Amino acid sequence: MSDDEPKPERRRMVRPPSGGTAAGRGMGQKIKTADKKSMSSQQWIKRQLSDPWSERARAEGWRSRAAFKMMEIDDRLRLIKRGSRVIDLGAAPGGWVQVALDRGAAEVVGVDLLMIEHIPGAHLIQADFTHPGVDQQLIDALGGPPDLVLSDMAHNTVGHRQTDHLKIIALIEIAADFAIRTLKPGGSFVTKNFQGGDAGGVLARLRDEFEDVRPIKPEASRKGSSEVYLVATGKR
Ligand code: SAM
Repeated sequence: MSDDEPKPERRRMVRPPSGGTAAGRGMGQKIKTADKKSMSSQQWIKRQLSDPWSERARAEGWRSRAAFKMMEIDDRLRLIKRGSRVIDLGAAPGGWVQVALDRGAAEVVGVDLLMIEHIPGAHLIQADFTHPGVDQQLIDALGGPPDLVLSDMAHNTVGHRQTDHLKIIALIEIAADFAIRTLKPGGSFVTKNFQGGDAGGVLARLRDEFEDVRPIKPEASRKGSSEVYLVATGKR
């Protein structure tokens, strides 16, 4: 999904141009199915179509506005190096995969619950990352340990605060655990996080395992959202 915070259960993303062309849906176009969707879905679609970052993503051929978040994080910390091996958790529709390849990554493996349209040069898997064996499947597809693990995973909210909170923390913990187990020494890890969420345990663990851990709120992350990214570099 190209949104930047947990989404209501029935929210669906506006399909980006396949292969990342600039032929995406324009701002004034009608949404044929909007009357059948829930209010929250309609609001989400409206917001997508009037959002300058989404518009820019369509114009430039990025599959999601999230691509700009990764570009900013990488501009600041230079995580993607020529020849890097990258694993992207929660990769659909593929903005971060595109950015990793564009910036010189040699191997990129992405996984998502949703099907990700083919991106030349990437190995894309449709699976639930939390299911047993999927972690090994990713390492096998990459052909070795990663230099960089990215996680933009976000679950569909159920509307019950505590349940949603637990789900957010669980995804962060699972992604962090995977990064810690698999990264090469010196490697980096980026995960979506939410301000006010109790990611304290994960944070302490990341601080033990990495030279530097810092929060980054990219410009493309919606101002009113509590979304923030945790960036851990220099895997010990
Ligand atoms: N970074 C992506 C991009 O640049 O296009 C956007 C990712 S979107 C914000 C979050 C994604 O996480 C959704 O596509 C969702 O299906 C995926 N996701 C959530 N839970 C997951 C899980 N357990 N396994 C795999 N993907 C998951």
